[in-house]
Amino acid sequence: MGFAGIIGHDRAVALLRQALRTDRLAHAYLFVGPRGVGKHRVGLALARAANCLRSLPDGDACGACAACRKIAAGVHPDVLVLTPEEGAIRIEQVRTLREEVSRRPYEGRRRCVLLDPAEALTEQAQNALLKTLEEPAGATTFLLLARRAEGLLPTVVSRCQRVTFWPMPEALIAQHLAATGLPADRAHALAALARGSVGDALTLAGGTVLESRDALLDRLFPALKRGAAACVEVAEEIARDRAAFGEALDLLLTWCRDLLVTAVLGHSGLAANRDRADALVAAAGQFTVEALAGAVAAAAAAREALETNANPRLTCEALLFRLRDLLVPASGGEGNGTRREGEFRRPGA
Ligand SMILES: [Zn+2]
Repeated sequence: MGFAGIIGHDRAVALLRQALRTDRLAHAYLFVGPRGVGKHRVGLALARAANCLRSLPDGDACGACAACRKIAAGVHPDVLVLTPEEGAIRIEQVRTLREEVSRRPYEGRRRCVLLDPAEALTEQAQNALLKTLEEPAGATTFLLLARRAEGLLPTVVSRCQRVTFWPMPEALIAQHLAATGLPADRAHALAALARGSVGDALTLAGGTVLESRDALLDRLFPALKRGAAACVEVAEEIARDRAAFGEALDLLLTWCRDLLVTAVLGHSGLAANRDRADALVAAAGQFTVEALAGAVAAAAAAREALETNANPRLTCEALLFRLRDLLVPASGGEGNGTRREGEFRRPGA
């Protein structure tokens, strides 16, 4: 996908296209914005436009030439994506990278290096990278993708041109999805999970994330009631894979937030998971606002912990025990006083 396929991020895209057109691409950019907002997508669009063999008149990539296809497939030798290995981007990875960028591009016009997320660079790795940023090799552009610039050394930040990415409002994303023919309720639910990125929303729309949500809720909530052993069992299943666990946490967090909003308002009109309005109303009525607020906080804390490389399995177990304390009074936790004995049901019931 070239720049033309990116929805939103108009200012960021205009700035990069202008730099490409005038051949004044910076040596290093720092893309700052929330996780999943579209920084990676824009970075790859830039790499394509900079290396396309048949650049379009407006400077965008054609999307069809060998270079464009290789970048899309992740096999272009001059487009490098550095991601954390075992939780961090380490000095060894940066040293290998430095060797690489000291050479001319193999087949492209400009080598593009995405560091995603740049916060994963260890301090040592950042210092090693600094030397490369200080002595720019001609045909390389570094793209540091970060949620916050504060996670990086000021010396690194000061050598990058900063580009800010703002999340797109959920309502606009939902509108965009609905315009593709998706039912409004489903569009709203997907928009809420897309974290401000239309691209992510469209990807989600083509997948089965809402079905995954239903499967997750059907497994998780009954396990809370069954007891600690069931929680451990479900945690092992959910948190087997870090990325999948992250997605499950996003789904759970959105669901808990919806339960809270529905409990406070007495209706599900402002919920994200509007396609499950009946289940939300039924489930929200079973808990106090305090218990649901606690559940939201616990799920958010688990999401944050996972971002900072906590152990997925332990994080998941701790979360489920906490949810059990909050939402199942018989477990001996704080519970809540308004629910009748045995009334806990799965959210879809
Ligand atoms: Zn092309």
